[in-house]
Amino acid sequence: MSISQSITENSRFSDTVLSWYDCHARDLPWRANQYPDCSQKIDPYLIWVSEVMLQQTTVTTVIPYFKAFIKTWPTIFDLAKANEDSIYSMWAGLGYYSRAKNLAQCAKIIVENHGGHFPKSARELKQLPGIGIYTSAAIAAIAFQEIVTVVDANVERVISRVFAIEKPLRETKKEVYSFAERLTSKRRPGDYAQGMMDLGATICKPRKPRCLECPIQKMCLAYRKEITAIIPKKLKRQSKLIRYGSAYVAIKDKSIILVKRPAKGLLSNMLCPPTFGWFNNETDKGPPFKSDWLRLPQTLTHSFTHFDLHLTIYRTSVRKVPRKFKAFELSPNLTQSLPSLSKKILKFALPE
Ligand code: SF4
Repeated sequence: MSISQSITENSRFSDTVLSWYDCHARDLPWRANQYPDCSQKIDPYLIWVSEVMLQQTTVTTVIPYFKAFIKTWPTIFDLAKANEDSIYSMWAGLGYYSRAKNLAQCAKIIVENHGGHFPKSARELKQLPGIGIYTSAAIAAIAFQEIVTVVDANVERVISRVFAIEKPLRETKKEVYSFAERLTSKRRPGDYAQGMMDLGATICKPRKPRCLECPIQKMCLAYRKEITAIIPKKLKRQSKLIRYGSAYVAIKDKSIILVKRPAKGLLSNMLCPPTFGWFNNETDKGPPFKSDWLRLPQTLTHSFTHFDLHLTIYRTSVRKVPRKFKAFELSPNLTQSLPSLSKKILKFALPE
């Protein structure tokens, strides 16, 4: 029997992860943290909100947003009744704004079609807006103890190292999933999923894994072969695309003209000064209306995941707000509710 087979063919691996988790689970606001019999206290609403927020975002960034969100909308019924703009405001700064839109839509569907109760299986959860393979499995395992395999980036890294998979992750996703599936605990699938995530986040870190403190060290092939530093194998970073555009900041007394971005695409439904040309690199498009626009000497750069945006900024003062536009008073509340790009443009364009 190969070493890989011996790791996957009994429950020693999952039992070890579970024992470690019982003592070392991270104290996160969406967890019940009552072990081992915590299943009654787990709220799928909290798990769902946290998992959606955690998509592409770190735990440290998510925690304050999560607390504020749950304080404002403590139940799925509260969220289903919420004004969508207030959800987007709360989301400002978290990025990937389509997630906020999906949360709002999903809450309405769960209240209207499921009487406010989350479907309990990953298969049904996956039918809801914004819930993909990973999120559906995480909710089903953690909130409803369904025996499903939950594989996030942390779990991928742990599995790649335990089985010493030396190819880049992009090429081995199926293999990693298949190993993860065979290791999944049938006894406590939710705790096991969270245990693997915590192990990846706190011990089997991307750089400098803390192997000497690792509970599964004896079962780890990468450790045995002394190749932990090169797994997962990194692909050469491709240089980021650069896009160009322009933004127009119009001041009316202590207010600023902002437009709501389209419902689809980047920063969907968020408030932003009028911008042009992002996707066609047409810096000469605009202005949004006639005025005495001043072109500011330097350009502003903002990084999105897949590209860097270079914006030329124009500024003007208006006596009257043009038809079809709306001015918003520049209060701390407004600034707080804007996405990072809008905040950056205003900071760049407005006098201190
Ligand atoms: S022994 Fe090291 S590399 Fe292997 S799983 Fe543990 S922390 Fe990760």
